[in-house]
Amino acid sequence: MSYRGRFAPSPTGLLHAGSLVAALASWLDAKAHNGTWLVRIEDVDKPRCSSAAAQAILGQLAACGMTSDEPVIWQSERSTQYQQALNALAKQNALYACRCSRSTVAQNLARMGIDVTRHQETPYPGTCRNLGLSFTQGHSVRWQPPGQPLQWHDRRLGAQVQNVSEAVGDFVLKRQDGLWAYQLAVVVDDGWQGITHVVRGADLADNTPRQIALQRALGLATPVYFHTPLVMGENGEKLSKQNGAKALTLDNPAQVMNALNQAAITLGLQTQPGEDLPAALAAWVRHWQTLTPA
Ligand code: GLU
Repeated sequence: MSYRGRFAPSPTGLLHAGSLVAALASWLDAKAHNGTWLVRIEDVDKPRCSSAAAQAILGQLAACGMTSDEPVIWQSERSTQYQQALNALAKQNALYACRCSRSTVAQNLARMGIDVTRHQETPYPGTCRNLGLSFTQGHSVRWQPPGQPLQWHDRRLGAQVQNVSEAVGDFVLKRQDGLWAYQLAVVVDDGWQGITHVVRGADLADNTPRQIALQRALGLATPVYFHTPLVMGENGEKLSKQNGAKALTLDNPAQVMNALNQAAITLGLQTQPGEDLPAALAAWVRHWQTLTPA
């Protein structure tokens, strides 16, 4: 099977030092496997995304020598496919409409004695599961995952296990505001694009079992996963747009090499002072092959 990988940014802002690590790692892994590297714009959360940011990200990637090997896919144009997947899941009787807001979920958990402030992610307690609410705007659509522990392997993190129904509970595939949820869109598109290898930041590792469970329910193949190390901000938290990560300025070769060298160091790659972009990328592809388990 020939390698197909992807970088899937959400255009809520420009690339920063953290997202460049995921971009570079996914590109290097594809090139090290003589594979195809795709860019997919994950703009399902329309109010938070902009096409100007998406175009700017594509420009930043191009400045770093990374361009999609096939036409760029935009999730905002793929509603029909997400609806088809939802219809397929509906036939399995594992979907239901839910009227809980974030705050009612928190209240219900508190009533069950679960302290929401001490838990980052709290499983949905199934409040609406048997209410038979209608699938209309204003209700989200939740999917009930299978109850068994799901085992999976990450090329960097090793053997992983999660019982999705215990750790996350029934999760949202379509939001109350009618927008598609990331979990559904990413699974449908990885499947449709024939993605064989997913390389992305370690902050998404705990989403992987949800996605594998959905792949199985939809009869889609499971890609091989590699979750990269994260870049930490000064406050010790993962660098992200939410905690003020600065957009990368990549207007000249020195800025490009500086940003890429930082990303390469995070990935455990060597950097050579004074090396130009093509030479650095070629050296990192060779180094990646020796460094990273297939
Ligand atoms: N769009 C997601 C993000 O920007 C990444 C999704 C993925 O790689 O699976 O965080």
